[in-house]
Amino acid sequence: MAQILDGAPVRDKIYADLKPRIEKLLRPPGLAVVLVGDNPASEIYVRNKIKACAALGIYSEKITPPATVSTDELIAIIEGLNADPVIDGILVQVPLPRHIDSRRVLEAVAAEKDADGFHPLNVGHLVAGRPAPRACTPAGIIELLKFYQIKMNSRRAVVLGRSDIVGKPMALMLLRENATVTICHSFTSNLVEECRRADILVAAMGKPAYLTSDYIAPGATVIDVGTNRLTDREEAVRIGKAVEFDKKGWALVGDVNPIDAAGRAAAYTPVPGGVGLLTIAMLMANTVSLAESHQ
Ligand code: NAP
Repeated sequence: MAQILDGAPVRDKIYADLKPRIEKLLRPPGLAVVLVGDNPASEIYVRNKIKACAALGIYSEKITPPATVSTDELIAIIEGLNADPVIDGILVQVPLPRHIDSRRVLEAVAAEKDADGFHPLNVGHLVAGRPAPRACTPAGIIELLKFYQIKMNSRRAVVLGRSDIVGKPMALMLLRENATVTICHSFTSNLVEECRRADILVAAMGKPAYLTSDYIAPGATVIDVGTNRLTDREEAVRIGKAVEFDKKGWALVGDVNPIDAAGRAAAYTPVPGGVGLLTIAMLMANTVSLAESHQ
């Protein structure tokens, strides 16, 4: 049976390492979270981020402009936060309402307050291998692989997905760890063959339980980033989530069929309880690093 790569002890270690760094600072690190409108999923994410700040002694501010806010008004809010000396990190919760120019808004966050690591300047630093805030989800995956002593150096890594927030930065971070990296996407021909070559397979496609045994090399490490709501009961039964489905009317599933991963991989991350726990932990880590650079 495959090893389950539980995210909780990794998160706990990240927090334990951050605490003495926070205590050393002259003032608490400060994180501002901008939440536009009333998207229920975003509200839960933001609540969890604020809770994590409180638990660690990080000062947080939640700014909640209405869904009708304009791009220029939102940029003015961000510029105020850029100039605020108690704020070290700024996070704009996405998705933003359709009428807002998301790119302009995200790029308005000062690179030196970019808690999410999305600013083009920081992406450039990642490409060049220089220290800078890193995209939280892939950075958390690197921490997880290191925690469980999964060798990356000289291994074949396949990243399924090429988004700016997960796939692309993940590939760059694995490359930095000396893995041989392939990036796959919806135009990749023969996806099964590509995936089956992977010693480390990172699935970030947003397709519920899409990856079956066929995609997994025996003995591979499977990292499941997918966070999907499965609403088809038959599918839920197929992947062993019938009880959860019957309780809630849906089930939270990754991009990988967990039964197949358990039967074929050497190790895999569960959903929930794997990668998802680390994204907020790395947001905290980015905020602390930014605060250190501001003092
Ligand atoms: P995204 O922006 O929608 O990107 C999905 C990527 O997967 C795209 O590059 C797409 O290819 C590729 N793809 C989709 N279907 C495919 C297929 N059938 N074959 C091959 N490639 C395919 O998604 P994202 O923001 O990166 O997120 C991915 C998943 O991770 C989602 O489930 C999301 O909820 C989850 N997520 C979880 C966390 C966490 O903290 N746990 C954080 C972020 C995201 P193209 O580029 O060609 O369209």
